[in-house]
Amino acid sequence: MIQMVKNKGARVIIEKNKFFNTTSINLFIPNNERNINKNGISHFLEHLILDLISKKFQDEILGARTTRLYTNYYLNCFTPSAEPIIEKFLRFIFATKSIPGYYQRLFCREQFLYTKKNIIAEIKEITDNPHRVLQTDFIAFVGDGKIEFLPSIGSIRTLENLKVKEVENYMEEGYNLKNACLVIFTNGSFTSIKNTIIQTTNNLLEYQVRKEPLKNNRLSKAPSLERYYLPEGFPFCPNDTKINERVLLINKDTEICYINVGFKISSTMPSTLNFSEAYVLAALLVDYIIEAISSGGFYLIKPLVYLFENEGIIGCNLGLGENELSLALEKIKEVSNYLKDKDRIIDKLPMAKRKCKMALLHEAEDLYKRAVFLFRNNSNITFESKAKEIDEVEADIIENKASYLINRENLYIGALGKIKSINPPIMKFYHYF
Ligand SMILES: [Zn+2]
Repeated sequence: MIQMVKNKGARVIIEKNKFFNTTSINLFIPNNERNINKNGISHFLEHLILDLISKKFQDEILGARTTRLYTNYYLNCFTPSAEPIIEKFLRFIFATKSIPGYYQRLFCREQFLYTKKNIIAEIKEITDNPHRVLQTDFIAFVGDGKIEFLPSIGSIRTLENLKVKEVENYMEEGYNLKNACLVIFTNGSFTSIKNTIIQTTNNLLEYQVRKEPLKNNRLSKAPSLERYYLPEGFPFCPNDTKINERVLLINKDTEICYINVGFKISSTMPSTLNFSEAYVLAALLVDYIIEAISSGGFYLIKPLVYLFENEGIIGCNLGLGENELSLALEKIKEVSNYLKDKDRIIDKLPMAKRKCKMALLHEAEDLYKRAVFLFRNNSNITFESKAKEIDEVEADIIENKASYLINRENLYIGALGKIKSINPPIMKFYHYF
């Protein structure tokens, strides 16, 4: 049961969590376009706040991430009675001036330099990791640049020019409860949490600098979220990236080549597509890949298959030994063909369904996924209804969906390595379909 609480412009979605005796809190604050296109201020502010408040939430799990659309703070409390924690958390984010000394520490020079050093280290870590570069670029590529929850971290160059005052202004402008959306997943009492939220939002209002929400607030349009288009010069995308209709090639001098394979399932798919079917299909694909690994040809950097429901993508990451590309591409073709083999599907289906249901439960613990899901589908979808859908998936359906997916129009590939070495086999692969 999902319920919405609104008070003084604040929007809170509360869902009953029957699986764990915990309370998960996800807060989403929209990023404005100025930040996304230019300087990574919101990512900076996210780090600044976490650097200061993590010590205040040592009995909980506190974290944050910044995407193109919003900054998300999450807090996992190991109690169903988290009312005082929710109140404290909201005060640290929205009523900074009501806590003695806190606002001054947030925007002092010393703290600013400390946080900046950490973020630069983070950006280096991400951009030096070929696997992550390919994955991020590939997701954007398959999603036609419409993936709004891709990370937005800023570049080293823009960070070096950032001023304390810019961050301070940004917080005053955007950190308003009326801009935000709060999602709470709890095994506690709805009434008690609701009363706390109403009380807290009444109290917070007088401390907030800005009284009105931002005019161009995309989050306020939830749940029918607009898509956010990637700006020119997407930060992870090297200048020499060559993009073909279905093939993304990234030229990077790495010791081994990386490859991503993805199937786009939503935009061209008949409207009857049920994402639970795609979910089961993705689980089968993982099994087939693992089977293929044992017979040689390629290995996985991470046995990862991701399914972005809203973007309609199934993708998987594969790592390839440098001189084994053509062999590996043959293997990928072979694995894709398994998805058309009904006997094999029937054989593997029960296990794939079990894995999907396990993954559903696991997602209940992943606050971010949980909240994004709820936030977009402010509706009657529950874990039970999703589990039931998974149970109902039949081999015939998988066989049909698979042959629809495994064709030229829906298949995407991305590769990272020395362009000279990856280009011909990738093109060969492309023509198989
Ligand atoms: Zn970060």
